[in-house]
Amino acid sequence: MNECLFCKIVARTIPAALVYEDDLVVAFDDINPQAPTHTLVIPRKHVVSIAELQELDVGLLGHLMLAGNKIAKFKGITDTGYRFVVNTGAHGGQSVFHLHLHVLGGRHMAWPPG
Ligand code: AMP
Ligand code: ZN
Repeated sequence: MNECLFCKIVARTIPAALVYEDDLVVAFDDINPQAPTHTLVIPRKHVVSIAELQELDVGLLGHLMLAGNKIAKFKGITDTGYRFVVNTGAHGGQSVFHLHLHVLGGRHMAWPPG
């Protein structure tokens, strides 16, 4: 998956503002933040979108969300609250086709989303 932007971030061939990493996931601040905290958590493994998840990836998804919680704590938004977003496909607004969890916080989030 050499052409994938987020695989390049995992491989450190392009820079990113890394926030957290472990054996399964990497997290970095979004380059175009939509809130005071806007961090992306991605699996090291290339998964196109949540629609492509396999049964064997169930644990990976849980790990991704627990990492999101760690980031919320690290960023100091656990008590005020935050939002996890996983845009999927064209109508979902996905623009990078490597699964990523947006961790958004630091301001009140509107509902319904745009
Ligand atoms: P999505 O639209 O859900 O696919 O989200 C992709 C996100 O990746 C957007 O919020 C972009 O701002 C962000 N993004 C794109 N390129 C980079 C990059 N090089 N470093 C950090 N975030 C990026
Ligand atoms: Zn990738």
